[in-house]
Amino acid sequence: LERIQQAYPEGGIYVVGGTVRDALLGMGGPDLDLVLEPLTVFASQSNHRRNRLDELARQLVGWFGGSFGLHVAFGTARVKLGFGLEVDLAEAREEYYPHPGALPQVRPSSIARDLERRDFTVNALALRLSPRLEIVDLFDGLADLEARLLRPLHPLSFVEDPSRILRGVRLAARLGFRFAPEALAQIPSAVQPEVLAQASKSRLRDELLLTLGEASATRALGLLAELGVAEPMFGMGASPQVREAFAALEPILQTTSDPEAAVAARLYLLLHFHPDPEGFLTRYNLPRRYAEGLRHLRFPPEDPDDIRKFVGLPEAFRALHPERALWLLTPRRMLMGRDLLEMGLPSGPKIGEVLRKVAEARLRGEVLSYEDELEFARKLVSDA
Ligand code: ATP
Repeated sequence: LERIQQAYPEGGIYVVGGTVRDALLGMGGPDLDLVLEPLTVFASQSNHRRNRLDELARQLVGWFGGSFGLHVAFGTARVKLGFGLEVDLAEAREEYYPHPGALPQVRPSSIARDLERRDFTVNALALRLSPRLEIVDLFDGLADLEARLLRPLHPLSFVEDPSRILRGVRLAARLGFRFAPEALAQIPSAVQPEVLAQASKSRLRDELLLTLGEASATRALGLLAELGVAEPMFGMGASPQVREAFAALEPILQTTSDPEAAVAARLYLLLHFHPDPEGFLTRYNLPRRYAEGLRHLRFPPEDPDDIRKFVGLPEAFRALHPERALWLLTPRRMLMGRDLLEMGLPSGPKIGEVLRKVAEARLRGEVLSYEDELEFARKLVSDA
């Protein structure tokens, strides 16, 4: 930051968002978000935009090594520095509506306008780097940070973007923050069916997956249910049974350092209790591997005793060696019908039969990788 200060004495460069929040809380994060104010506000010619982002990205890589990617159209750049820090650069932007009723678009703007479109006051703090270090606190975020309160910037914030509720829940669970009274008051109108129908499904999905990836996910899911959000947003509450299952899963997850495995495990567990898991996966356009994984997980083993254990998913987990449970839960490449067609098996019931046999072998732990599965299937095909 000192180097940037010296190299850009004219100012217009800010640290923003979670980086500032976490630094003030005395926590370090794995990345750094910087916002660049256009030198002439509204100077939006793409050349000018490109130059400033490009220049700082190159400068950072020149100082510390690493690499960067530039997205001129979005006005952003991502820099991976040699010593591991990831720096996101973005030009200051505001949202505007080209005409009434149109979808919002963004254009270069001042830092104040950029901060105005953010979710909570504690996330709308900025640190101006030059000419001197200075906190920019336009919405009393410092007071809220001290009181550990999540306060939206305006009364329609959650209606405008219901995924902000999930962001708040995630922060509340992770940092021990509470929703301010204004935030609580906004929730009911933001989870009305007609509002959720308009909301961006991909944002809700992304925020849900991020939440499921955190060590505090169980607390976050409990909070979602307490706030009355889980049912309207995701079509399921958090019954004592669900909470108990999550509590049982946590010790297993502590044995992995693979965040993706933890997301998958918690998602499968949620889906296990969901009245319409397939519908949920489709509605939120979740990656196909989860639908695949779910199919295999729900595959009932032949032994009736195993079936009993397997349908009570947490019980099944407890009965399994942790590594085996995680292996079953980790999304990975699995044999598919397409592979069998490529082996020369004609389409027809035989395909389903081979897939079923492979799935059984998978549950028994006899095949441990995609290559194993191919090999196993090849044998079945040639025997046939
Ligand atoms: P985390 O520690 O979870 O990464 P973060 O605050 O850095 O927290 P990001 O998802 O990286 O979270 O978002 C960066 C910043 O962008 C946030 O601090 C917030 O100011 C803003 N932001 C992100 N999503 C939204 C949203 N849906 N609505 C408004 N502002 C948002």
